[in-house]
Parts: sequence; C-alpha cells; structure tokens
Amino acid sequence: MIVKVVLNNKEQNIDRTFDYEVPEGLEDKMAVGMRVLVPFGFRNKGVEGIVVAMPQTSEFDVLKPVSKIIGKEPVCSPKTLELCLWISKKYFCSLYQAIRLTTPPGMTSGIGEKTAKFVSLAIDRDTAFEIKDELRAKNNTARARVLEALIMSDNIPLAKLIKERGGSYTAVHSLQEKGYIRVDTEQIVREAYNEKKYERTTAYTPTSEQKVVIDHLYSCIDENRHEKILLRGVTGSGKTEVFLQAIERVIKMGKNAIMLVPEISLTPQMVQRFVGRFGNRVAVIHSALSVGERFDEWSRIKKGEVNVVVGARSAIFAPMENIGIIILDEEHETSYKSETTPRYHAIEVAEKMSETENCVLLLASATPSVTEYYKAKIGVYTLLEMTKRYNEGAMPNVKIVDMRGELFDNKNRSPISLALQAEIKRNLFVGQKTILFLNRRGYSTFVSCRECGEVINCPDCSIAMTYHKKSDSLSCHYCGYTMRNVTACPECGSKYVRYFGTGTQKIEEELNNLFPDAKVLRMDTDTTFQKGGHEKILDKFKNEDADILLGTQMVTKGLDFHEVTLVGVLAADTALAVDDFRANERGFSLLTQVCGRAGRGDVPGRAIIQTYQPFNATIKFAKEHDYEAFYKNEILQRKRLNYPPFCDIIYIMVTGEDENAVKTRSEEIGDELKRCMKSDGNIFSILGPAPAPIEKIRNNYRYRILLKCKNKDDAHDILESIYELHEKNNKKTFLTIDTNPINMY
Ligand code: ADP
Ligand code: ZN
Ligand code: ZN
Repeated sequence: MIVKVVLNNKEQNIDRTFDYEVPEGLEDKMAVGMRVLVPFGFRNKGVEGIVVAMPQTSEFDVLKPVSKIIGKEPVCSPKTLELCLWISKKYFCSLYQAIRLTTPPGMTSGIGEKTAKFVSLAIDRDTAFEIKDELRAKNNTARARVLEALIMSDNIPLAKLIKERGGSYTAVHSLQEKGYIRVDTEQIVREAYNEKKYERTTAYTPTSEQKVVIDHLYSCIDENRHEKILLRGVTGSGKTEVFLQAIERVIKMGKNAIMLVPEISLTPQMVQRFVGRFGNRVAVIHSALSVGERFDEWSRIKKGEVNVVVGARSAIFAPMENIGIIILDEEHETSYKSETTPRYHAIEVAEKMSETENCVLLLASATPSVTEYYKAKIGVYTLLEMTKRYNEGAMPNVKIVDMRGELFDNKNRSPISLALQAEIKRNLFVGQKTILFLNRRGYSTFVSCRECGEVINCPDCSIAMTYHKKSDSLSCHYCGYTMRNVTACPECGSKYVRYFGTGTQKIEEELNNLFPDAKVLRMDTDTTFQKGGHEKILDKFKNEDADILLGTQMVTKGLDFHEVTLVGVLAADTALAVDDFRANERGFSLLTQVCGRAGRGDVPGRAIIQTYQPFNATIKFAKEHDYEAFYKNEILQRKRLNYPPFCDIIYIMVTGEDENAVKTRSEEIGDELKRCMKSDGNIFSILGPAPAPIEKIRNNYRYRILLKCKNKDDAHDILESIYELHEKNNKKTFLTIDTNPINMY
C-alpha cells in the first residue's frame, strides 16, 4: 500500500507530495485524510503530514515506510481535500496551508485545554516598562511583546496574546516563572452559548416583502436547486428573519446550514437570535473561544450533532456535511477576505462550495459591494430586494452638519457640533437612547513635535505611534510595540509635543463635560478586550439606563435596539479618506449602516453626520438612503478609471530582513512580468517594484508590485510560475500574491 503525503515542513513550503510505503500493521487504519508521522530527509527526521491520496503505484522504486498514524480518524474528507487543492492553486499557498484551514483547531499544538486562560501583569506598569526595555535590548522580542500587550490592557486571553500579539508559550511561561505576569484560568461553561440563556423564539409572520424572498428560497431548497442569490434589504427590513425561516426549511429537508457573519464577537444579538430559534442545534464559532472550546464545537459539527454553524470567515471550513444553504450576512464586509496566507475570500470559497454541494448561496446586505451588485445586475446572481422596514417604519431622517462653520460661525471648539449637542439634549430629556460613532480608537492618533515637526514613529515599522491615555503610553498598531509617552521631542528636545486627532476617550471626556448627568458607555478595542466584552457593554446599554453608546466601528454593525432614536457620526471624513478604489463604497456602507441603527422601533429615528465636506456625493447618497443612485454613480466611475469589477488588481509583495535581497528579488519578478506583459494583452499596467507605502513592518522590508489586468484567472498561469520559482529557491525573502486585496499598503 502506497500513500501520497503532504508534509508540514517549514523549509518545504512548496506544493509537493511525497510517496511512502504503508507497513502491514497500519494498512487497516490507513485512509485519505489521516495524519501521519513520516521520516524525512537525510537524517530521517520525523515530520508530520496528511495523506492526500492512495495510489496503486509509485514512480519511485524504494519508499520509506510511514512511522505512525496520528489520531483515530481522518482529519479531512476527500471532498475537503479537493477544496483545499483548489484553494492552494487559486490563492498561491501550499496545500498544507490550505488543509490547515479545515483541520481541527489545535491539531498541531495539542489539545486538552478545557478552560480559557487569561494573562495579566503581576507588577506595576512602570516596572513592566523597564523590564520590557531590557528584554528588547537583549532581543527577547516575544517576551517584550507580551509585556507590551499587557501594559496596554488589563488582561488578555492567552490564545489571543500568542495569535495576535506576537507572544509565544515559552515567553509567557518564562515571564510567569519570574513573577512578572499571572496566568489565570477561568472555568468556562463548556457550551459557550448555553441555550437556556436565551428566550426561545418562533417564526414571525413574514411581511409581504419577506414572503417573496422566503418563497423563492423555499423553492430552491425544496427542489434541491443550486442558485446564487444576492439579497439587498434596507436596514431593519428583517433579513435575519428571512435567514432563520430559510434555515428552518433546510433542516426540515434533512440538511444543514452555514451562516457567516463579519465578526461574531461584534454580533452577540445575531447569536442570540439563532440560539433562540434553534437551541443546541447551533454551533457558534468565534475568536474568543479557547482552543479546547473550539475543538469541542468542531467535534459536535463533525459528529453531526448540529444543523447550523454560525461563525466568522473561517466557519466556512467547518466540517459540515450535507449542506443545504450557505448564507453570508453583510456580504460587503471586508473581514470576509483573509489578509494572511491563505488569502482567500469567503464569498469565492462559498460560491465554489455551493456548486459542489449543489445548494443555495445567499449573500445579503443593505449596501452590497459594488462588485457583487454588478454581478447580480449581469445575471451571475439572482437579485432579490426588500425596500421597506419590517414595520413600514420610516428610514431615519439624516442631517448633514458642516463642521467648517463650527469654529468660525458658532465659536464652538468641541468635536461635537451645537446641532448634535441639541439633539443629544433632546434625547436625554425624553429618555431615548443615542449611538455616537467615531472612526478611530485611542485618545488621539499620533504625536508630533510643534517645533521641528518630528512625528514619533515605531522603530520597527515605518508608521506613527498612537497615544493611549489609560496607560499613558504610545503603541504601534501594526506590531504592538509600546513605549512610554514622551515629554520632550526625541529629535530636538523641545517640550512642545502635541497630540493630533481625536479618539473615543477624548469624546467620552467631552460628553461627560457637556452632559454630566448622562450615562455614557464606551465601546472600542480598549474596553472590549476581555471575553464577552462586547456583550457586556451591549447588555448594559439595553438593560441599565445608559443613555449614550459611544464607539468605533463596533457600534455600526447589526445592533437592533428599538430605543435608539438618534445616531451621530462625529467625523465622516475619516471614513471617506481611504486611499483606495473602495473608499466611496466603504464610506457609503459605513454611513448607511450606522444611520440604520436609529429608529428601528416605533419612534422614527434621526441621524446627524458631521463632516468637513458637506457636498461630498457619497455622504449625500447616504443621507438619501439611496443605494441605487450611489451604485449608478460609482459603477460609472469604476468603468471610467478602469477599476474592479472591470479589472482585477493583483498585489505582489516581497518581504524580508535583508533589504538588498528583497529589492533584487522584486526587480527579478518585475522584469519577468514586464516581459509577459509584452506578449499578453491581459495585463494592462504594472506599478513598481517600489518600496511599499509602509516600507517596513517588524523590521521586514517590503517591496510592492501592483498589476492591473483584465481578468485574474487569465493571469493565473504567469503568477503561478512566478510563485513556484520563488518558492523553489527562496532563502531570504517571502512572496505574497493577492488579488483585489483589502489593504494595499
Ligand atoms: P435587518 O437584519 O434587515 O437589519 P432584522 O432582521 O434585524 O433586520 O429585523 C429588524 C427587527 O424587526 C428585529 O427586531 C426583528 O425581530 C423584527 N422583525 C423582522 N421581521 C419581522 C416580522 N415579520 N414581524 C415582526 N417583527 C419582525
Ligand atoms: Zn522636535
Ligand atoms: Zn511597529
């Protein structure tokens, strides 16, 4: 018996399989999708791998034997392997990296962690600063990063510290031994979303608009018909109710559903509604689960104990069989695109899966992405629409406030305009709730010297540091590097160091000054670090008599509070000032979503958008709630400027610590592409290679090439050959190839 194995081998990043002989004792248990340990290389070092095929013959005469089978069951099915193969080809990653998306959580780190662990400082912040500076000086980066993260917030889940903040288990362990930090376990209720917690609900009688959509979905489901559908429904039109009823039907037909949401921890209300309807037949996968909890959910799905998976992007890879519908809510959200390898887009993966599963794909949004809406217009998707709120309620009345007049005409220095102040006052007076949105976090964005203009930058990344008031420190949002706040300019010594911009903390202070009796809740990354942080704040907002919820992007999405009648957008300009072809689309959707939080109950809502560009077209369309007009305007511009969906943008990034190697490699790739462009009409233009806008992150130099081409699929062969060539002899550089990325820095 012969098996083809794909290895988990860092040096062997290329997409290759190796043949092994299966010893007699293991033949019974061997199957495609099994994890195995095999000898590799000169020294026959034991390396882990996954069996991807069991061919009759091998082209090699002598094969080494498999040493061991790991685990009792295959970790992925042949069907999943097919998908992984497709992913590795489409998104330029190794097969093993693709498989890792689909295998049980913690597969390689060892599971058994039944409780989530939380890490906090055991020493005061000043001492922590001293120790971390010493660690930095000794190049103990992982340890320094752990301390930096903890200086910034009271406690952090261990998993998050390692996954997102650049720490390591060894680093945490050693800091704990030294007594610098504490690791506490919190006994987690195994079923993270215990059904008893939520009221059970039953289906509402659909409105006439909902009924049309539901009937259409029923006909697909009942006839086992594969169809791709885009549902555009204004905020409050009752899209979620449509999902719930469609899923109920899918379950009745003996099938299962996958429901993706942009960021599960931001949408506790959505989870409540799903668990309320389907009880323990729902598995919820979200980033705050410990590895053990995640594994439990994974196993429940695999064993067929649940019918519905609700989760963020990666839940598309849940081991769900027999899928009847895949739903992506808020389909326009950028979080559906992975910005780390494998750089997949969940919509594309869901499309592929809905084809192989022959099931319904339902994309939904109040503000569909221009690309998907275009696809609906040209017939790739069926377009269904809901244009009214479920209770026939009016859309909020939106007013634009020109901030240019605030200082000069109104003599008002506050970031909250007099008009908005008056509306807040009115809401406080009648006891209605207000949501205020600011597109930033921290106390202020960056720090600079008033004498010489020096901006305090991160030493490892070419990016400005952000000031955080609570810990009186500066931190880098790219790598987490943290330093004490400066009192003098490091360049010229001047004492006039100044903070630019306005953050949520500053607005909170301002609100406390203006409305001393109002109860204000702040929701941003600093106040929601802890597990269930969002839910706690939202519960407070709902139950206690909090008056104002102030926050970043987190307050713009999915919230359904009937008592909220006023929404204020404090600085619309920061939402529009994205240097990217999607700027208008993002701005429009953000403004529409946040205004849509107002007036969802019986009392009509109102919204105020503060801006320095009152005549901006995007703001105007958002004020009128006119998606169709926005789309018509935007698609013309995209066509004129030749942007997606009329072309694809391909982003090629070479990174590495050795700047010369990075530069040389990127030039080689650039030359090769220019050569191809001559003979290939598909490529319109090549920009670069040149240092990327952020030239360095974590001491890695970054060179970028941007391609514009008619069709990414037609460019695939060229890119694949570039990728393979690089992976075969990569020593000092890393190559990333991404199509239509969200971030192009
Ligand atoms: P959307 O997701 O489109 O913004 P939701 O699904 O959140 O809208 O619905 C808004 C509110 O309307 C929710 O509180 C929901 O429970 C309620 N709702 C939706 N459909 C109905 C219906 N047919 N009858 C009564 N209430 C409904
Ligand atoms: Zn200076
Ligand atoms: Zn940095």
